[in-house]
Amino acid sequence: MTDLAAPSEWQLLPGLDAPQRPDYVDTTGWSVGRKRTLRHQQDIARGIHPLTKKPLLGTGQTCVDCASAREDHGFWKCILFSTSRSETSDLRVGWPACTLFKERQP
Ligand code: SF4
Repeated sequence: MTDLAAPSEWQLLPGLDAPQRPDYVDTTGWSVGRKRTLRHQQDIARGIHPLTKKPLLGTGQTCVDCASAREDHGFWKCILFSTSRSETSDLRVGWPACTLFKERQP
């Protein structure tokens, strides 16, 4: 998996140091989970949903209000994205909703 927080994806010119992204954080020594959390926070700050990579809806609604959010053995998943058992597909119900949002019916 590419570490989005690292500047390695930047094209380097000979003799010049790598430019650092404004939101660059040195994650040396961090756990995989902590790096993933940082990427999620950076996505949300950029207006992108961490799981679907769609733009955020911007209405104040969160994934828990969406009909596509499902709880499976204590873990929340978005059925439009993935229902695998992998941690990487876990949904945080407090995340702001993406543009695929559909109101949950009672
Ligand atoms: S808002 Fe709905 S469709 Fe979008 S990620 Fe959350 S649960 Fe999935």
